[in-house]
Amino acid sequence: MVTKRDEVVIKKMSELLRSGAVMLDLACPLCSAPLFKLKSGEVVCPTHGVVRVVKTDAEAVEIQSQAVLDRVQALAADRISAIANSLGLESSEDAERELLDQLERWLDILERVRRLKLMAVKEEKK
Ligand SMILES: [Zn+2]
Repeated sequence: MVTKRDEVVIKKMSELLRSGAVMLDLACPLCSAPLFKLKSGEVVCPTHGVVRVVKTDAEAVEIQSQAVLDRVQALAADRISAIANSLGLESSEDAERELLDQLERWLDILERVRRLKLMAVKEEKK
């Protein structure tokens, strides 16, 4: 069965081929669609756009840990907003304090993730 998403990917692939891109013997690490090399030399996935081709395992691990940090950051932002929404709605002081504790922990996590991401960017610029 061809899903709506497949259709979009197939359309994108034929666009890439028409524009002179070459299908590579490599798959996108995120969706395992075939990757294409543009005339400019950039490697792209039909769904995810420009993909960095990793040369070493260390580089692959680095990219994976960035993806994990992205996920944790999104989760923390989600939780913080959910907690912020419940603040003031709690009837008991204990429940309110519990929420504030949770909020503090998530804010700590968010701050740490941001710092780790900054460190990674700095390293890349070296
Ligand atoms: Zn992809």
